[in-house]
Amino acid sequence: MFFISSLELDRLIRKFRDSGSVVSGELRGWNWGDEYLSPLSDDIYLSVSLVANRYCPTYRDIYLSIVEGVKAPFTFKTVRGWVYHYISSEALTQVKSYLYNSGVEPGYKVFHELMRRMRKFIDKVFRDLKVKEYLDVDEYRLLYRDAKVLYRYLILQAAANVDRVVADIKFLTVDSLVSKVVPSVVERTVDGSPLGLSSELRVDMLMDNNVIIDIKTGDYRDFHSYALAGYALAIECDLERPIDYGIITYLRVDNEFVKVKNNFFFIGDELRRSFLSIRDEAMEVVHVGADPGKPSKCPEYCIYYDICNSEG
Ligand code: SF4
Repeated sequence: MFFISSLELDRLIRKFRDSGSVVSGELRGWNWGDEYLSPLSDDIYLSVSLVANRYCPTYRDIYLSIVEGVKAPFTFKTVRGWVYHYISSEALTQVKSYLYNSGVEPGYKVFHELMRRMRKFIDKVFRDLKVKEYLDVDEYRLLYRDAKVLYRYLILQAAANVDRVVADIKFLTVDSLVSKVVPSVVERTVDGSPLGLSSELRVDMLMDNNVIIDIKTGDYRDFHSYALAGYALAIECDLERPIDYGIITYLRVDNEFVKVKNNFFFIGDELRRSFLSIRDEAMEVVHVGADPGKPSKCPEYCIYYDICNSEG
């Protein structure tokens, strides 16, 4: 895993396990038909990010997005988020397929070969995401440069992991090398519709040990952890796998450096209840279909700030 070491992850999980924290059965997603979890309406489906990203205390963002169909404008930050997510997921796929084709090789060869493919890879990412349509020339250049820094960082981590695994294990097959170097599930689509969530929710990373990772490319916000509860409930509902732990990974490129900060969470009853209560309020706003109005002060980082604050 490239954003957190498996040793560090094991240590965090052990710490929470030892504390005796448990999740109540009635708050597991597979009990979606029961009192606590069933949605208020069976024909409203919301994305986890729309519910969890509580920029707006009155839920006007939900009203604008779902009832009025007003989409938030695409800013540089939005496009940067798409690019970083795409690179984080596709670079891992690239490493995986390279290792399957090349067999067990020293890390420096993996690094050099994948670096040789960098330009082609990033051009494809930018083409697929139609980045040119959203950014001006300077923004495009800046993001292209940062995308290279992120790609190089991921490839370097992969190459170092290859050497580490090769050094530790005597008889190594390509399969076992790949499974140790690249997280086995990178991105996962799950159906959260029985909980009133979208039927195609994309979880950034779902790992073998049932830990989920949500990658954020913007600033820290208090409400980010709600998304972990939403995804955990949806995975439990769709796949019947218990999800007790999650990480919010904050990813940032600062000149030539990639900065990673991991916030680890136990997805316990309190977090689940908070998410469900927000989901219910969001559904109520959609169900009623009336403008809930603005709060006394709008945070400037709200994605609808320009729209709401240009209204008369
Ligand atoms: S700008 Fe204000 S009213 Fe509009 S969605 Fe954001 S917080 Fe709510």
